[in-house]
Amino acid sequence: MDKSLRDRASRVVPGGMYGHMRASGLPDGYPQFFARGEGCHIWDVDGRKYLDFMCSWGPIVLGHHHPVVDAAARRQMEQGDVLNGPSERMVELAERVVGLVTHADWALFSKNGTDATTTCVTLARGATGKRKVLLAKGAYHGAVPWCSPHPYGVMSEDRAHILYFDYNDVASLEAAVTQAGGDLAAIVVSAFKHDYGQHQELPDLAFAQRARALCDANDAALILDDVRAGFRLTLHGSWDQIGVQPDLSAWSKAIANGYALSAVMGNNRFRDAAAALFATGSFWCGAVAMAASLATLDVLEAENGPEHMRAMGQRLRDGIAEQARRYNLGVRQSGPVQMPTILFEDDADYARGNRFTQETLKRGVYMHPKHNMFLSVAHTAADIDHALSVTDDAFKIVAGL
Ligand code: PMP
Repeated sequence: MDKSLRDRASRVVPGGMYGHMRASGLPDGYPQFFARGEGCHIWDVDGRKYLDFMCSWGPIVLGHHHPVVDAAARRQMEQGDVLNGPSERMVELAERVVGLVTHADWALFSKNGTDATTTCVTLARGATGKRKVLLAKGAYHGAVPWCSPHPYGVMSEDRAHILYFDYNDVASLEAAVTQAGGDLAAIVVSAFKHDYGQHQELPDLAFAQRARALCDANDAALILDDVRAGFRLTLHGSWDQIGVQPDLSAWSKAIANGYALSAVMGNNRFRDAAAALFATGSFWCGAVAMAASLATLDVLEAENGPEHMRAMGQRLRDGIAEQARRYNLGVRQSGPVQMPTILFEDDADYARGNRFTQETLKRGVYMHPKHNMFLSVAHTAADIDHALSVTDDAFKIVAGL
């Protein structure tokens, strides 16, 4: 079935599939098409079942097809979704996230993470009347000309006012601020360094504090791109954990457990600017996703989701570390345990990583060889232990035993 869908898609879908979900970006054997998901399991179109460690690249935070979230969405669907204006759900959701997220005094909603990061940048420029925006080299903020990692079709003019620094490197950040002169609108930071194919890095406190201070000194906006990490590590904003508050933040992925929704949140300094900005989209006020989000946040809070994911992620990390030691394999695990990246040392072409994940896939555990993975609230200790029995076999093969 996967094969015949690929053949059909190759005739009517660009490249057979486009963007980050292309199976051609994965080792041989990975399915392109999926049929369904339930809890922490997914089924491909050929009926093969996998224990899922990608969670749809982030959105699934409570587990696939979550009964409470889906019931809330269905209830709303019976009332109406895309209407001539927002529903009551929008106000409820804005109140909810303003109550949860430490730096937020207001929220506006859109659909994709890219909508939210782009709105943050536009808002910072509008509010400050300045142009330069600083990004960390290699950081992902979306797939539009100002930030796409693939410059196909992008003109240098699109990035005329974008400057770069190295994440966690204070000196390079200061140099970029100097380069911006008096024209600094914003510094954009990810919750932590989660660049594709690389070891992840948590934010260094001195770096985060310096970014905050430089924005204050230059009347610029500190923008936190919390699209990937938000509501998975904590419900209060990822940099709340280190005591550094952004002015603006971008959210999506986990916010509605798979329903299409993103958000921009901001403090009072940017309230008037946000009201002045023409931010809009045909589907941005859709009430179903907002109802799903309210239910998602309720369950995450009631079940202390971030803490559960931390405990399960730690169990996985400890187990993998023990196995790598036992098989004498250089394996480095990085990032928060809820969002692990597992890379082999001295594996520049990812040959061992690819082999490892191909072997776990064959045994029904869907992992990624080079991107960070995602835990969900649906992963239980028994699921992690099952995954570890599979990774044990996969390590054995990679070690050539
Ligand atoms: N920022 C970050 C940190 C992301 O991880 C992503 C999505 N991978 C985006 C922005 C863009 O989100 P979307 O794909 O929903 O546009």
